[in-house]
Amino acid sequence: TKQLKGRIVKALSGYYYVLPVEEGPSGQTVQCRGRGVFKKKGINPLVGDEVYYSLTENGEGTVEEILPRSSELIRPPVSNIDLAILVFSVTEPTLNLQLLDKFLVHIEHTGIEAVLCLSKQDLEKDGSETKEASEAAAAVNRIYSAIGYEVYGTSSRLGEGVEALHERLQGHLAVFAGQSGVGKSSLLNAIVPGLELETNAISNRLGRGKHTTRHVELIDIGGAYVADTPGFSQLDFAELGIEDLGYCFREMRELSPDCKFRACNHVHEPGCAVLKAVEEGRIEQSRHQHYLLFMAEMKEKKRRY
Ligand code: GDP
Ligand code: ZN
Repeated sequence: TKQLKGRIVKALSGYYYVLPVEEGPSGQTVQCRGRGVFKKKGINPLVGDEVYYSLTENGEGTVEEILPRSSELIRPPVSNIDLAILVFSVTEPTLNLQLLDKFLVHIEHTGIEAVLCLSKQDLEKDGSETKEASEAAAAVNRIYSAIGYEVYGTSSRLGEGVEALHERLQGHLAVFAGQSGVGKSSLLNAIVPGLELETNAISNRLGRGKHTTRHVELIDIGGAYVADTPGFSQLDFAELGIEDLGYCFREMRELSPDCKFRACNHVHEPGCAVLKAVEEGRIEQSRHQHYLLFMAEMKEKKRRY
């Protein structure tokens, strides 16, 4: 039988919904079963997978082969994500740099590219924002741009910065990350006219109530796909070793070859290039503080088990 190429955009009740590549983004999906041998071999097709499939007589299809994955997330279960939009609002909820760094550590650990989005910028302009929040927003721009993260400012309410973000997403399979209430669903609604995901932080899920079953679906946003479920919602360092942590702070990763000791933890070791950089202001104090805090958190967790 003829093998066709497509992408799984949804999985539900043992079916995989495959969007043919030739069809383009607005085409019809083909309802497929996995090949019989998949189960025996422990092969588990994921939303996001590029696949070869064949058509069966009843108009359905069979997923024949899964192409190699470039990434694999566990929560949500989705493959081939190549961009994470990490959303933080200038206020409501309060901008929390420690939480931002925690998200970044988890994203860096997967090797997925991260872009920052500072949302609800209209709240800064209309003066309802506190001085503290305004300073925090400025700090995000300064600290994270300096270490090579792109920072996009948006207001879904005013439709500002939304087009630029949509442009940045082009060609990617992306996931939105960030705490509940920062405006992830609202951003997607602003990007895709007529999408109408449920907002207001009723649940952790984009667009769905808590009661619905756990499955992920890719939303076609025009030239890109976005998972309909926030990524990196569980920030418990479960999949991270203490020795990985320094690697997840990119500015420390860059300097660590200059440390005197190969396995330097950048805590109080002599000849540590990272500590020297913190002292001289080349590495942001808050970043290093959060690094130490996360390390303590990981040690505490290890001790308890
Ligand atoms: P999510 O939990 O990250 O998906 O956040 P939502 O999109 O559900 O938004 C949470 C709340 O923030 C809702 O009440 C939105 O109306 C509000 N919100 C979202 N975006 C903006 C924005 O750009 N400006 C303002 N002022 N409020 C926003
Ligand atoms: Zn060091």
